[in-house]
Amino acid sequence: DPPAEKFEYQAEVSRLMDLIVHSLYSNKDVFLRELISNASDALDKLRFLSVTEPGLLNDGLDLDIRVQSDKDNGIVTITDSGIGMTKQELVDCLGTIAQSGTAKFLKALKDSKDAGSDNNLIGQFGVGFYSAFLVSDKVVVSTKSPKSDKQYVWEGEANASSYLVREETDPEKMLPRGTRLTLYLKRDDKGFAHPERIEKLLKNYSQFVSFPIYTWKEKGFTKEVEVDEDPAEAKKDGGDENAEKKKKTKTVVERYWDWELTNETKPIWLRNPKEVSTDEYNEFYKMTFNEYLEPLASSHFTTEGEVEFRSVLYVPAIAPMGKDDITNPKTKNIRLYVKRVFISDDFDGELFPRYLSFVKGVVDSNDLPLNVSREILQESRIVRIMKKRLVRKAFDMILGISMSENREDYEKFWENFGKHLKLGCIEDRENHKRIAPLLRFFSSQSEDYVISLDEYVENMQPEQKDIYYIAADSVTSARSTPFLEKLTEKKYEVLYLVDPIDEVAIQNLKSYKEKNFVDISKEDLDLGDKNEEKEKEVKQEFGQTCDWIKKRLGDKVASVQISSRLSTSPCVLVSGKFGWSANMERLMKAQSL
Ligand code: ADP
Ligand code: MG
Repeated sequence: DPPAEKFEYQAEVSRLMDLIVHSLYSNKDVFLRELISNASDALDKLRFLSVTEPGLLNDGLDLDIRVQSDKDNGIVTITDSGIGMTKQELVDCLGTIAQSGTAKFLKALKDSKDAGSDNNLIGQFGVGFYSAFLVSDKVVVSTKSPKSDKQYVWEGEANASSYLVREETDPEKMLPRGTRLTLYLKRDDKGFAHPERIEKLLKNYSQFVSFPIYTWKEKGFTKEVEVDEDPAEAKKDGGDENAEKKKKTKTVVERYWDWELTNETKPIWLRNPKEVSTDEYNEFYKMTFNEYLEPLASSHFTTEGEVEFRSVLYVPAIAPMGKDDITNPKTKNIRLYVKRVFISDDFDGELFPRYLSFVKGVVDSNDLPLNVSREILQESRIVRIMKKRLVRKAFDMILGISMSENREDYEKFWENFGKHLKLGCIEDRENHKRIAPLLRFFSSQSEDYVISLDEYVENMQPEQKDIYYIAADSVTSARSTPFLEKLTEKKYEVLYLVDPIDEVAIQNLKSYKEKNFVDISKEDLDLGDKNEEKEKEVKQEFGQTCDWIKKRLGDKVASVQISSRLSTSPCVLVSGKFGWSANMERLMKAQSL
């Protein structure tokens, strides 16, 4: 035999395996989902490559996944006929963390530890290949890539700091193509090798993998066989002992083992929406995006006409971990298929603008070429039309959540993705009409829960023309500003813009339902109640006082003026009509530090 080479894991991996085994203890089941999803990814990659290299499929091998379990020995094998791995890929993919789900897992773990929370969160993260060690003492991966004429074996044990890679030489283990994982289950986890258990898990997790998954299963069929009648029986029946032996038929069960298809392979987006249940949409979501929580909403649609495509979109229940994901549109959230062939999930604003990059889903088009490249995507008229429709559907879906009887649903959405929509106010003028009704703010009359602009407008006084707002760093400081006095007296509601991005978003919108947004902290706020006579009088009386104050304050203020905007406070600092608001100024300062 050629010698096996020994490799050390990248430091984090050995630590990771230990973490996985200990922290995911309660949800070991996930291992099968992870391994099946890797098999499915490998088949997707092969199918995609075969578009330009049809020769890859010449071996006539079907694209499928086979799971076999040996309950007596506690062994489970998962075989796919996908892209496989070369020796180098084995080392790169299974010995390092790279960009995979495992890196995400480590980060999430760290974040939740930092946040001091007792990490229930962990179960939510895909842990990838290493989840095999949740249930296994030893994992053997034998794999054949079409790029190599040799087959290689990766062999690793739980809690070890190294793994082995060698060439496969056993003729019985040769694969024409693809990968076989053999899991040697831990003593306490041998139950996973029961075919019924495997089948149950597969039904749970893998219903929506778009390749057939077969399980190796014991089956039986009944059959009538002729048997000789027992002579003793015959005698009891009063028969003649010497009579010829009678023939009798009997039903027996014939047992045998065979592959059985366990999943439905028609992609969910090709099915009739009327025939798909919410549960099925949710399961598809969890399987496809490695999610643990149910989505907040989903939308399944087909568009026809100019451009034809089908899509299922989702709004996740929570925003992804990490603080600045809002500016990172590369989320792998949209999976593009062309005629059912998975093409890519690596987009950068081509299908959704970055402020909507939290939307997840699949899109299947018949109009794009199979060998579509990033350049084609960026320049394609078809893609532009698709984008427009997708965005519209995404807004419909979000509007649906906002109209749900369960107010909490939208509050949850707003808490997680409100910032994204505000960013939309700044970046997507074309969709202002769709974004504005979805915005929520605290106000002088609703300090505990956020209200919509429609609710604001409904609550306007008959003579009130504008929508008033004040930007501040918190509800408490907004509440105590003297600018509010006159408006409160007139029962005018004032929006509290307490998120740093709020003010810029509102300024970009400019108006809602033909009512302008007006900052109550700006100079010459007109509440439509000017009494010119009276003002003139007061100005004359206090003109000198103003001059005196201006002289004392010098450059600290631009001007000192008489105003009718206060009712109980003697004076207030306002910002110039064309200047930045105090809040903006504070933000700019904070940024330049
Ligand atoms: P992820 O799937 O998020 O990339 P995993 O830990 O699940 O992370 O897998 C790591 C990598 O190992 C995959 O990206 C892939 O390149 C490779 N891999 C895993 N399973 C298979 C398989 N069955 N066939 C081919 N490659 C695989
Ligand atoms: Mg994976």
